[in-house]
Amino acid sequence: MRLVLLGAPGSGKGTQATRLKDYLQVPHISTGDLLRAEVAAGSPLGLEAKAIMARGDLVSDAILLGMLEERLSRADTAGGFILDGYPRNLAQASALGALLARIGQPMDCAVQLDVDNELLVERIAGRAKAEGRADDNPESVRKRLAIYAQQTAPVVDYYRQQGKLTVVDGVGTLDDVFKRIIEAIAPVREVG
Ligand code: AMP
Repeated sequence: MRLVLLGAPGSGKGTQATRLKDYLQVPHISTGDLLRAEVAAGSPLGLEAKAIMARGDLVSDAILLGMLEERLSRADTAGGFILDGYPRNLAQASALGALLARIGQPMDCAVQLDVDNELLVERIAGRAKAEGRADDNPESVRKRLAIYAQQTAPVVDYYRQQGKLTVVDGVGTLDDVFKRIIEAIAPVREVG
């Protein structure tokens, strides 16, 4: 199954994707993780992305598409994948659509984790303490939430218009939310 997880920073995408990957037996592709690995490795791409990420801005569409194309060309994605953190704007959504059409593997479904803003801010503050991510400082968090509302929210409509969207309530225990996701994607799994 080819699935994209949508949701604001702090909505629980990463955590749920980790569980879903075991359940669906497909790789979890997080563009944030791919970028953090480049930063940690000190590659030219990582050096370019580091400051942009720290202040909560989006890294360029061209860099992301190149990285994603390379990742999706690997053999382990033949049976599907879970995409987390991409697409972040409409340009990325249509680039991804074109890429998947070219390889004859269209997206099966998009799941949006719905969590209200106040709770997102609370959750990210908790994560900042636990993980110490460079971009979990208050200023960067505000920027990331604003970018989500302006640029990423339209991506939800993009998949809705394609009839691929299911919205899942992202508030509750990890188990509750996971169960809701499984129920939401069950009809698509049966078809696929
Ligand atoms: P994430 O782990 O998904 O929250 O991503 C962390 C940061 O990596 C984001 O705030 C962006 O700076 C960058 N990033 C991740 N995915 C993308 C993307 N699809 N487009 C642009 N920048 C991205």
